[in-house]
Amino acid sequence: MPPSSAPLSICVYCGARHGAAPAYTAAARALGTAIGERGWQLVYGGGKVGLMGEVADATMAAGGRVVGVIPESLQALEVGHTGLDELHVVSTMHLRKQMMAERAHVFIALPGGIGTLEELYEVWTWRQLGYHDQPIGLLNVGGYYDHLLRFMAHTVDQGFLSAPQHGMLQVGDDPVDLLLKLVAQVPAAEAAEDYSRI
Ligand code: AMP
Repeated sequence: MPPSSAPLSICVYCGARHGAAPAYTAAARALGTAIGERGWQLVYGGGKVGLMGEVADATMAAGGRVVGVIPESLQALEVGHTGLDELHVVSTMHLRKQMMAERAHVFIALPGGIGTLEELYEVWTWRQLGYHDQPIGLLNVGGYYDHLLRFMAHTVDQGFLSAPQHGMLQVGDDPVDLLLKLVAQVPAAEAAEDYSRI
Protein backbone atom coordinates (compact mmCIF):
# COMPACT_ATOMS: atom_id res chain seq x y z
CA MET A 1 0.00 0.00 0.00
CA PRO A 2 1.46 3.41 -0.89
CA PRO A 3 1.83 5.96 1.91
CA SER A 4 -1.11 8.35 2.00
CA SER A 5 -2.15 11.28 4.15
CA ALA A 6 -5.59 11.31 2.52
CA PRO A 7 -7.86 8.31 2.10
CA LEU A 8 -7.12 6.24 -0.92
CA SER A 9 -10.25 6.37 -3.09
CA ILE A 10 -11.67 3.27 -4.69
CA CYS A 11 -14.35 3.83 -7.33
CA VAL A 12 -16.71 0.86 -7.56
CA TYR A 13 -19.18 0.23 -10.36
CA CYS A 14 -21.77 -2.47 -9.68
CA GLY A 15 -25.35 -3.54 -10.11
CA ALA A 16 -28.34 -1.66 -8.75
CA ARG A 17 -29.75 -5.18 -8.31
CA HIS A 18 -28.41 -8.13 -6.37
CA GLY A 19 -28.32 -10.58 -9.28
CA ALA A 20 -29.16 -14.26 -9.12
CA ALA A 21 -26.24 -15.69 -7.14
CA PRO A 22 -25.51 -15.02 -3.45
CA ALA A 23 -21.80 -14.91 -4.39
CA TYR A 24 -22.32 -11.47 -5.96
CA THR A 25 -23.58 -10.00 -2.69
CA ALA A 26 -20.80 -11.74 -0.76
CA ALA A 27 -18.19 -10.25 -3.09
CA ALA A 28 -19.66 -6.75 -2.78
CA ARG A 29 -19.63 -6.99 0.99
CA ALA A 30 -16.08 -8.43 1.07
CA LEU A 31 -14.83 -5.59 -1.12
CA GLY A 32 -16.53 -2.93 1.01
CA THR A 33 -15.18 -4.50 4.19
CA ALA A 34 -11.64 -4.58 2.77
CA ILE A 35 -11.89 -0.89 1.78
CA GLY A 36 -13.27 0.14 5.17
CA GLU A 37 -10.84 -1.91 7.25
CA ARG A 38 -7.92 -0.17 5.60
CA GLY A 39 -9.37 3.29 6.22
CA TRP A 40 -9.86 3.86 2.50
CA GLN A 41 -12.71 5.66 0.79
CA LEU A 42 -15.40 4.25 -1.47
CA VAL A 43 -16.61 6.41 -4.34
CA TYR A 44 -19.69 5.02 -6.05
CA GLY A 45 -23.01 5.85 -7.65
CA GLY A 46 -24.74 6.74 -4.38
CA GLY A 47 -27.54 4.17 -4.52
CA LYS A 48 -28.92 2.20 -1.58
CA VAL A 49 -30.16 -0.63 -3.77
CA GLY A 50 -28.64 -3.91 -4.94
CA LEU A 51 -24.90 -4.48 -4.84
CA MET A 52 -24.41 -0.70 -4.62
CA GLY A 53 -26.05 -0.58 -1.21
CA GLU A 54 -24.16 -3.69 -0.09
CA VAL A 55 -20.69 -2.33 -0.89
CA ALA A 56 -21.51 1.05 0.68
CA ASP A 57 -22.95 -0.42 3.88
CA ALA A 58 -20.05 -2.86 4.26
CA THR A 59 -17.48 -0.08 3.78
CA MET A 60 -19.11 2.09 6.45
CA ALA A 61 -19.57 -0.83 8.85
CA ALA A 62 -15.83 -1.50 8.62
CA GLY A 63 -14.95 2.14 9.33
CA GLY A 64 -14.40 3.54 5.83
CA ARG A 65 -15.67 6.77 4.29
CA VAL A 66 -18.25 6.60 1.54
CA VAL A 67 -18.85 9.21 -1.15
CA GLY A 68 -21.88 8.86 -3.40
CA VAL A 69 -22.51 10.81 -6.57
CA ILE A 70 -26.03 10.52 -7.92
CA PRO A 71 -27.94 12.34 -10.67
CA GLU A 72 -31.08 14.30 -9.73
CA SER A 73 -33.26 11.94 -11.74
CA LEU A 74 -32.29 8.91 -9.63
CA GLN A 75 -32.33 10.86 -6.37
CA ALA A 76 -35.92 11.86 -7.17
CA LEU A 77 -36.80 8.16 -7.29
CA GLU A 78 -35.51 7.91 -3.70
CA VAL A 79 -32.93 5.30 -4.50
CA GLY A 80 -30.13 7.46 -3.07
CA HIS A 81 -28.40 6.27 0.10
CA THR A 82 -29.01 8.83 2.86
CA GLY A 83 -26.46 7.56 5.38
CA LEU A 84 -23.25 8.36 3.48
CA ASP A 85 -20.39 10.63 4.54
CA GLU A 86 -20.98 12.64 1.36
CA LEU A 87 -23.82 12.42 -1.15
CA HIS A 88 -23.47 14.70 -4.17
CA VAL A 89 -26.60 15.24 -6.25
CA VAL A 90 -25.59 16.39 -9.72
CA SER A 91 -27.66 17.46 -12.71
CA THR A 92 -26.62 14.87 -15.28
CA MET A 93 -25.29 11.35 -15.58
CA HIS A 94 -22.24 12.69 -17.40
CA LEU A 95 -21.35 15.03 -14.54
CA ARG A 96 -21.83 12.17 -12.14
CA LYS A 97 -19.43 9.85 -13.95
CA GLN A 98 -16.89 12.64 -14.34
CA MET A 99 -16.99 13.45 -10.63
CA MET A 100 -16.67 9.80 -9.66
CA ALA A 101 -13.68 9.41 -11.96
CA GLU A 102 -11.97 12.57 -10.73
CA ARG A 103 -12.08 11.32 -7.17
CA ALA A 104 -10.73 7.82 -7.76
CA HIS A 105 -7.27 6.32 -7.50
CA VAL A 106 -8.46 2.96 -8.84
CA PHE A 107 -11.60 1.60 -10.50
CA ILE A 108 -13.25 -1.77 -9.92
CA ALA A 109 -16.31 -3.18 -11.68
CA LEU A 110 -18.34 -5.86 -9.92
CA PRO A 111 -21.18 -7.82 -11.47
CA GLY A 112 -23.89 -5.56 -12.83
CA GLY A 113 -26.05 -4.72 -15.81
CA ILE A 114 -25.86 -2.15 -18.58
CA GLY A 115 -25.11 0.72 -16.18
CA THR A 116 -22.06 -1.08 -14.83
CA LEU A 117 -20.89 -2.10 -18.29
CA GLU A 118 -21.30 1.42 -19.59
CA GLU A 119 -19.25 2.84 -16.69
CA LEU A 120 -16.55 0.20 -17.07
CA TYR A 121 -16.20 0.69 -20.80
CA GLU A 122 -16.15 4.47 -20.45
CA VAL A 123 -13.37 4.53 -17.88
CA TRP A 124 -11.45 1.92 -19.90
CA THR A 125 -11.87 4.06 -23.04
CA TRP A 126 -10.64 7.13 -21.13
CA ARG A 127 -7.56 5.19 -20.11
CA GLN A 128 -6.97 4.05 -23.69
CA LEU A 129 -7.17 7.70 -24.81
CA GLY A 130 -4.75 8.79 -22.10
CA TYR A 131 -7.26 10.86 -20.11
CA HIS A 132 -6.10 9.11 -16.96
CA ASP A 133 -3.62 6.45 -15.87
CA GLN A 134 -5.48 4.77 -13.03
CA PRO A 135 -5.63 0.96 -12.67
CA ILE A 136 -8.92 -0.66 -13.72
CA GLY A 137 -10.13 -4.04 -12.47
CA LEU A 138 -12.97 -6.36 -13.38
CA LEU A 139 -14.17 -8.75 -10.69
CA ASN A 140 -15.26 -11.94 -12.38
CA VAL A 141 -16.95 -13.53 -9.40
CA GLY A 142 -18.75 -16.81 -10.00
CA GLY A 143 -17.80 -16.65 -13.68
CA TYR A 144 -20.32 -13.84 -14.22
CA TYR A 145 -18.15 -12.13 -16.84
CA ASP A 146 -16.89 -15.29 -18.61
CA HIS A 147 -18.91 -14.57 -21.77
CA LEU A 148 -17.83 -10.94 -21.85
CA LEU A 149 -14.18 -11.92 -21.40
CA ARG A 150 -14.48 -14.29 -24.35
CA PHE A 151 -15.97 -11.50 -26.40
CA MET A 152 -13.13 -9.18 -25.39
CA ALA A 153 -10.62 -11.78 -26.60
CA HIS A 154 -12.62 -11.95 -29.82
CA THR A 155 -12.30 -8.18 -30.31
CA VAL A 156 -8.53 -8.60 -30.03
CA ASP A 157 -8.53 -11.57 -32.44
CA GLN A 158 -10.54 -9.58 -34.94
CA GLY A 159 -8.23 -6.59 -34.83
CA PHE A 160 -10.50 -4.05 -33.12
CA LEU A 161 -8.68 -3.98 -29.77
CA SER A 162 -4.92 -4.07 -29.28
CA ALA A 163 -3.32 -6.44 -26.80
CA PRO A 164 -1.92 -3.53 -24.72
CA GLN A 165 -5.37 -1.92 -24.57
CA HIS A 166 -6.86 -5.25 -23.58
CA GLY A 167 -4.18 -5.55 -20.89
CA MET A 168 -5.29 -2.26 -19.31
CA LEU A 169 -8.21 -4.18 -17.84
CA GLN A 170 -7.12 -6.43 -14.99
CA VAL A 171 -9.34 -9.37 -14.22
CA GLY A 172 -9.60 -11.27 -10.93
CA ASP A 173 -12.05 -13.51 -9.14
CA ASP A 174 -11.24 -12.56 -5.54
CA PRO A 175 -12.35 -9.09 -4.41
CA VAL A 176 -9.60 -8.49 -1.86
CA ASP A 177 -6.78 -9.84 -4.06
CA LEU A 178 -7.93 -7.69 -6.97
CA LEU A 179 -8.28 -4.60 -4.76
CA LEU A 180 -4.77 -4.98 -3.32
CA LYS A 181 -3.27 -5.69 -6.74
CA LEU A 182 -4.76 -2.48 -8.18
CA VAL A 183 -3.86 -0.33 -5.17
CA ALA A 184 -0.26 -1.56 -5.35
CA GLN A 185 -0.05 0.05 -8.80
CA VAL A 186 -1.00 3.55 -7.60
CA PRO A 187 2.14 5.70 -7.47
CA ALA A 188 2.86 6.90 -3.93
CA ALA A 189 2.76 10.59 -4.91
CA GLU A 190 -0.64 10.16 -6.47
CA ALA A 191 -2.01 8.21 -3.53
CA ALA A 192 -1.08 11.13 -1.27
CA GLU A 193 -3.20 13.55 -3.29
CA ASP A 194 -6.28 14.55 -1.39
CA TYR A 195 -9.27 13.73 -3.57
CA SER A 196 -11.70 14.13 -0.70
CA ARG A 197 -12.55 17.79 -1.32
CA ILE A 198 -12.78 18.27 -5.06
P1 AMP B 1 -26.80 -1.54 -13.49
O1 AMP B 1 -25.46 -2.21 -13.67
O2 AMP B 1 -27.56 -1.43 -14.78
O3 AMP B 1 -27.59 -2.09 -12.37
O4 AMP B 1 -26.46 -0.03 -13.12
C1 AMP B 1 -25.65 0.21 -12.02
C2 AMP B 1 -24.73 1.35 -12.30
O5 AMP B 1 -25.46 2.41 -12.93
C3 AMP B 1 -24.19 1.87 -10.99
O6 AMP B 1 -22.76 1.75 -10.92
C4 AMP B 1 -24.68 3.29 -10.91
O7 AMP B 1 -23.64 4.20 -11.13
C5 AMP B 1 -25.75 3.43 -11.99
N1 AMP B 1 -27.13 3.20 -11.47
C6 AMP B 1 -28.08 2.46 -12.06
N2 AMP B 1 -29.21 2.40 -11.31
C7 AMP B 1 -28.98 3.13 -10.22
C8 AMP B 1 -29.75 3.45 -9.07
N3 AMP B 1 -31.00 2.99 -8.88
N4 AMP B 1 -29.19 4.24 -8.13
C9 AMP B 1 -27.96 4.72 -8.29
N5 AMP B 1 -27.19 4.46 -9.36
C10 AMP B 1 -27.66 3.65 -10.31
